Amino acid sequence: MALSGRLAELSDWHQAPRVRPLNDRLPAQGGRYVLCWLQQALRACDNPVIDAAVRLGNALHLPVLVYHGVREDYPYASDRLHHFILRASIDLAEGCRRRGLACVQHVERAERREKGLVYRLGVAAAAIVVEDQPTFVARWQSERVAGRVDVPVLAVNAACLVPPAVIGRDVQGRTAFLRRHEPARAAWAAWDEEIADVAAYSGALPFTPDTLRADELGTLIAGLDIDHSVPVTPMHPAGRNAAEARLTRLVADVLPGYASNRNDATRLDSASSLSPYLHFGVLGPREVMAAVNGAAAGGQHKRKFADELLGWREWFHYQARHLDAPERYDRIAPWARQTLTDHAGDLRPDQETLSAMLRGETRDETWNACQRQFLAEGWMHNNLRMYWCKRIIAMTPSPEAAWATACYLNDRLSLDGRDPSTYGNIAMMFAGAPTDRECPVYGRVATRGDGSIRHRAGGDAWLATAASRPVPLVSVPEFPPVDPYLAS
Ligand SMILES: Cc1cc2nc3c(=O)[nH]c(=O)nc-3n(C[C@H](O)[C@H](O)[C@H](O)COP(=O)(O)OP(=O)(O)OC[C@H]3O[C@@H](n4cnc5c(N)ncnc54)[C@H](O)[C@@H]3O)c2cc1C
Repeated sequence: MALSGRLAELSDWHQAPRVRPLNDRLPAQGGRYVLCWLQQALRACDNPVIDAAVRLGNALHLPVLVYHGVREDYPYASDRLHHFILRASIDLAEGCRRRGLACVQHVERAERREKGLVYRLGVAAAAIVVEDQPTFVARWQSERVAGRVDVPVLAVNAACLVPPAVIGRDVQGRTAFLRRHEPARAAWAAWDEEIADVAAYSGALPFTPDTLRADELGTLIAGLDIDHSVPVTPMHPAGRNAAEARLTRLVADVLPGYASNRNDATRLDSASSLSPYLHFGVLGPREVMAAVNGAAAGGQHKRKFADELLGWREWFHYQARHLDAPERYDRIAPWARQTLTDHAGDLRPDQETLSAMLRGETRDETWNACQRQFLAEGWMHNNLRMYWCKRIIAMTPSPEAAWATACYLNDRLSLDGRDPSTYGNIAMMFAGAPTDRECPVYGRVATRGDGSIRHRAGGDAWLATAASRPVPLVSVPEFPPVDPYLAS
């Protein structure tokens, strides 16, 4: 079979709708491996990106080389994010080895700069397989690489249970999305892991890979030129074992009451706290749903969980895929932008400094309780996020500043930030359904009080404790955050 024909191996694959060519190059003659470049899908099992690379490698009679690297200069790089990523990367490499695949890693630092490493690894590749991420660094980098290399770059969706391509391009609202998504779920729930039938790559490399060890991560990270004021959070331990433990906890403790408890931010067992592990792909949605479907919990709880994980999360992935810039303020509904602009000149008595907001030291106790959860845990309960986000509109000098501040705080502090769900949910808080009544500052955008927390038994006390909990003293930037696209 001609080299070009071997790409058809992926079009015939049962997972083919996950695959999207990012350029139209043909596989390189003489390539030594299929490069599988992972940025965010940091798991060795149930990973369609690795499976696609293995399938292509088998067709080309080439081994797969899995590569994962972390730079110092990606936006919001901090001890918190680096540790979560690198601990997952250690388990990724170990899992790849168990699958008979070579996995090499690089952590950029002063004494180990490897300029253009993906391009250099690409020189010896017959093809490059990357993950299809619709937001943040993984999107920009994959598109840039695809435009510059001479080999095919194939993007594979690993983040969703139902590949967005199955839904089509023409869906406008979540109801229409669900009409197509729900019936498709069963067909995408199971998967077969592809087995490599070529021995693991052991040939030359254009760099010396790092050997990462869990007990040395702290020292390694301490030496990097990243934000050390945002520390590792013990509430969300990193790595595959920790992710699996959260999944076990979901099935045993959270799911049995999920539909009734989910909105109660004061309960520790109201939510799964899986979002950091899902964002960095330490767990995939297929394995989470397999655990949920196999659990003993009642149907209403399973349905509610599926609505969050599949109905909302995958809707935001789908939306982001079809937006040029999902992170941008102008993605919000035109009516909402108009009403917020109409009220841009209103007095803003609730305005706060960035420093007070960042450190959870505003005049609003409830808001501080929310923000301090981000600071301490690197995660926030959904019910708190809604109040937190709505209030930012009143706390900042303009709607554009509010958008930029909400994205900045979420992206910098939250392990699950920088995600399609980040920008999709913030956009919902800035728009949603218009109200009949005009309010100062908000116009016809709905406001939100803190009653859903305060009115619960013990709610006031819970908020007072949460608003005064000790938190790390994060650094305050010299300039306020700006919508990146308005700035450019
Ligand atoms: C202003 C605002 C900002 C948000 N920012 C993010 C973010 O940066 N990253 C992020 O993953 N989620 C975000 N969410 C959605 C939601 O708050 C989190 O997914 C959820 O709180 C994560 O906690 P959990 O894993 O315990 O959720 P659970 O209640 O246990 O839900 C299970 C999973 O379903 C998904 N899910 C639940 N709620 C939503 C939702 N509203 N939208 C999309 N997916 C959902 C998540 O993957 C979650 O892990 C945001 C919501 C709001 C209102």
